[in-house]
Amino acid sequence: MCVSLRPDAEEIPHVCPSCKTKTSRVHDYRRQKVQHLKLFERLTYVFYRKRRYVCPCGKKVAEQNPLVDRYQRHSKEWNQALGFRLIHGKNFKDTALQFHTSPNTAVRRFDHISATHLKEVEELPRVIAIDEYKGDTDQGKY
Ligand SMILES: [Zn+2]
Repeated sequence: MCVSLRPDAEEIPHVCPSCKTKTSRVHDYRRQKVQHLKLFERLTYVFYRKRRYVCPCGKKVAEQNPLVDRYQRHSKEWNQALGFRLIHGKNFKDTALQFHTSPNTAVRRFDHISATHLKEVEELPRVIAIDEYKGDTDQGKY
């Protein structure tokens, strides 16, 4: 499967990260092989024709895209699905096998997700929850 985000070649101005100038001058296209979610149990790769802009200052700017993050070989969807499976799946090894990746990648992904969630609960409220519980058993009332 080969995709181009904007087949009509419409240039979208991108902001240069180094000098903040807006540029829509296309520098080049590069084909990037991105591992995507399985289709009917078959490995799927997307060949993404990635556009790069060039700023007058010389800096190259990769176009924003919904498919793949910077420096990643797997699609965003793939990473999300892997994350979900890592939490609900049997174990890292089995999950890695299903996603055709190494257990190391699976563990790193899991650590990344855990770190994100740990940050969210760094500060616990003084009171977490107040609950009442009443239960009747054959041992008596609680
Ligand atoms: Zn620039």
